[in-house]
Amino acid sequence: MYEASLNELERRLRAGSEHISIKRNVPMARYTTLHLGGPADMIISPEREEQIQQTLQEAHALELPVLIMGNGSNLLVKDGGLRGVVLRLCRDMQGMEINGNRIRIQSGAMMSTLANAAADAELGGLTFASGIPGTVGGGAYMNAGAYGGEMSQVVTLVEGYDMKGEPFRYTRPEMEFTYRHSRLMNEDKIITRVTFQLPQGRREDLLAEMVEFNRRRADKQPLTQFSAGSTFKRPPEGYAAQMIDECGLKGCAIGGAQVSEKHAGFLINQGGTAADFLALMAHVQRVVYERKGVMLEPEVRILGTDAPVQSI
Ligand SMILES: Cc1cc2nc3c(=O)[nH]c(=O)nc-3n(C[C@H](O)[C@H](O)[C@H](O)COP(=O)(O)OP(=O)(O)OC[C@H]3O[C@@H](n4cnc5c(N)ncnc54)[C@H](O)[C@@H]3O)c2cc1C
Repeated sequence: MYEASLNELERRLRAGSEHISIKRNVPMARYTTLHLGGPADMIISPEREEQIQQTLQEAHALELPVLIMGNGSNLLVKDGGLRGVVLRLCRDMQGMEINGNRIRIQSGAMMSTLANAAADAELGGLTFASGIPGTVGGGAYMNAGAYGGEMSQVVTLVEGYDMKGEPFRYTRPEMEFTYRHSRLMNEDKIITRVTFQLPQGRREDLLAEMVEFNRRRADKQPLTQFSAGSTFKRPPEGYAAQMIDECGLKGCAIGGAQVSEKHAGFLINQGGTAADFLALMAHVQRVVYERKGVMLEPEVRILGTDAPVQSI
């Protein structure tokens, strides 16, 4: 029944749109910066907004669950993979309109593309985004931020669809942004466009600031290794990385998952499984709680099912 529904969805989408990228049974490790995760039953990468709406409407009619992703830079997908349909908005949808101090951009654009385009248009407020390796949609959903800036300071409007394909529009106050949080975390919705209102800036100053932020990043973060950035949120009591470091956990490993030697806030994958990574996360949480009395909360979004148990 489930397979038949997936086949029917593929048939209907291909009939509606000749060129639509639909892949079946693809390892999520290929689509996440952690390079972890079992197979997704179906990944659809739409190129046009009508394809998103049609996918949502047809999947809803066929009672297939839909998961949304961008660049997979904040995702930990379990080894058993993802059931249902993954709608991936990354790079294929990145149209942009610049009008005075306002930029309206499609959510598949990378944050770095947006930051560079803003600087070229002599618009500031987005230099923080240049080194965040995610999409504009993922950034708005996560309220991504760095170096004192975050999406909530510059976003004015978020547009998209609910899971039935009905359009929605949320203004900045309606997004209920707080630290690495937006109301979309409690709702099933897909962001297709984000509008920014930005202060004026000088192109050279903005580019120089981005270069400086990216230099600081490369100095401190293990950018050549597989990670999802900071694994845990910053707790109210201080910095997660400092606490993990003070508990002597730098370099600590379970299977192929390791606490980075370079930055204790980054857990990295060195060829292990999602199960290793989850076990290391739980170990770090336990040790930090025992020694510091602080329960670290994951920033990385955990999705999917565990791998089936193998008989020996
Ligand atoms: C090396 C490295 C450095 C990083 N540094 C930072 C940093 O400085 N600051 C920071 O905040 N983060 C950082 N991150 C984490 C990550 O890049 C951000 O959270 C980013 O915003 C995630 O965007 P994404 O497109 O990759 O989203 P994904 O990882 O694909 O998805 C993340 C969440 O967003 C949802 N989502 C994605 N796109 C949409 C959409 N179009 N509509 C609705 N929901 C959507 C997904 O369902 C998921 O729940 C870093 C990651 C890495 C690997």
